[in-house]
Amino acid sequence: MALPLRALIVEDSEDDAVLLVRELKRGGFDVEHMRVDSSATMNVALDRRCWDIVISDYSMPGFSGAEALKILRARTSEVPFIYVSGTLGEDTAVAALKSGAQDYLVKGKLGRLVPAIERELRDVETRRERQRLETQIHQLRRFEAIGRLAGGIAHDFNNLIGAILGFAELGQEELADDHPTRKRLQKICEQAKRAGALTHQLLAFARRQVIQPRNLDINTVIKETISLLGRLIGEHIRIEPVLSDDLAPAWADGTQVEQVIMNLCLNARDAMPQGGRITIRTRNFVIRPGDAVPQIYYRAGNYVLVTIADTGIGMNQETLEHIFEPFFTTKEVGKGTGLGLPTVYGIVKQHGGIVDVESKLGVGTEFRVYLPIGSGAPEASEKKTEPVVTRGSETILVAEDNDGLRELAKEVLESLGYHVLLAATGDEALEIFAPGHKSIDLALLDIIMPETGGPAALEKMLAIKPSLRAIFMTGYTAEMEAERLMGEMGVPILRKPYSSQELAQSVRSVLDEAR
Ligand code: ADP
Ligand code: MG
Repeated sequence: MALPLRALIVEDSEDDAVLLVRELKRGGFDVEHMRVDSSATMNVALDRRCWDIVISDYSMPGFSGAEALKILRARTSEVPFIYVSGTLGEDTAVAALKSGAQDYLVKGKLGRLVPAIERELRDVETRRERQRLETQIHQLRRFEAIGRLAGGIAHDFNNLIGAILGFAELGQEELADDHPTRKRLQKICEQAKRAGALTHQLLAFARRQVIQPRNLDINTVIKETISLLGRLIGEHIRIEPVLSDDLAPAWADGTQVEQVIMNLCLNARDAMPQGGRITIRTRNFVIRPGDAVPQIYYRAGNYVLVTIADTGIGMNQETLEHIFEPFFTTKEVGKGTGLGLPTVYGIVKQHGGIVDVESKLGVGTEFRVYLPIGSGAPEASEKKTEPVVTRGSETILVAEDNDGLRELAKEVLESLGYHVLLAATGDEALEIFAPGHKSIDLALLDIIMPETGGPAALEKMLAIKPSLRAIFMTGYTAEMEAERLMGEMGVPILRKPYSSQELAQSVRSVLDEAR
């Protein structure tokens, strides 16, 4: 198969140019060329298209190879420049190479032309590849740094927001239905919930979300997400699922995958104000060691590939370079948060997957999400039926180092009839538990506390009382930690900030399970 080659030939003699082109075609290139012999025509040619190579005579009437090289290098350092000249002394040759040309050949001996060009094209490819990798490494490092910062802040924020939300909720309940201050407290709750949602997106980006992966049928998740999207996406946009019917299950958290698909589809919607089509495809995909995959952080293995393509406005290079950064948005104030794609990035990476994008201005954009496959049959998605009755009279030990949250949990649980014991650290919890364990039915433990954290405290408590029920509370967690805790210890996790309702329900359902 002939290799396409776009050659710009700087040459005053048409005959010599024809000779060059013939030599290139003989060498197996499918040549598209243009001949120029002045700075004006050279500039026009460079404006008009991209060139793979510039082949230039050394001296011409009214123009010179040196000038041509200068014009080219002023624009790009990427395109190789080769001299082909009738008269080229050794000194001029050396000077030519020093000034940024890649090679020089003599007109009578064109045998070296094709190998020289092949070598240059390979070099260009290698340089591009290296640059691409360097850019990615640089981006990964930056993301790690931002992620650590965001994760750290979000942890403390979650506690603060949790306390604000909880006290506002309690305050509401204490007021008569028609009390004017109720509305104010309602607003505080709404705003606190929004702040909580933001911190969760940051945590997702920082890969500190609590994820609960299992064998998941991605096609089902997609169908469910599409039905949710109906209300958010207008009639002017058609969603077209093209789902593989032998798709392997992915090892993934359904809620998180739903969020990924949702964010990508909403962006696609925003990119098609005049309407268009979103195509969602699924298929099995194998990455072998050494495969050219568009992201460096991949592992060879079996994946479920989900592509989401739109027919929207597309993105330019500049935008593409920043889309996964938190708070990067091209949308008007109030329309974009710039957290959609960072969330996608964090979720996919936390799953051990890859996310990649390809976009053409005016044509559309395609996002590709690779999720590692699971093993075994997909589990049916469990739709939790929320218990209606949340009151109880059991005894609950709450260990939480944040004063506001600790007091709040006490107030909420006591208002529901429970008997509550409080501890500010894991050690304190153990001091209370050891003598009182007979009457304690449930331990509600913060995962991260000074000295003894929740998991370590629980292990000691279980040694005393194996039938103890427990719930961990956390705003964030290291990736493996959460899976280990839930997998090995079988302890459910209550995500901060939680509402009073969520606290009440998870306490009740864990206690009921015990029976
Ligand atoms: P937001 O949607 O709040 O702006 P995102 O992180 O979801 O934040 O997206 C960041 C930016 O990426 C968008 O502002 C937009 O410029 C660009 N973008 C994302 N998806 C698409 C798409 N499908 N088509 C065109 N541009 C997109
Ligand atoms: Mg978005």
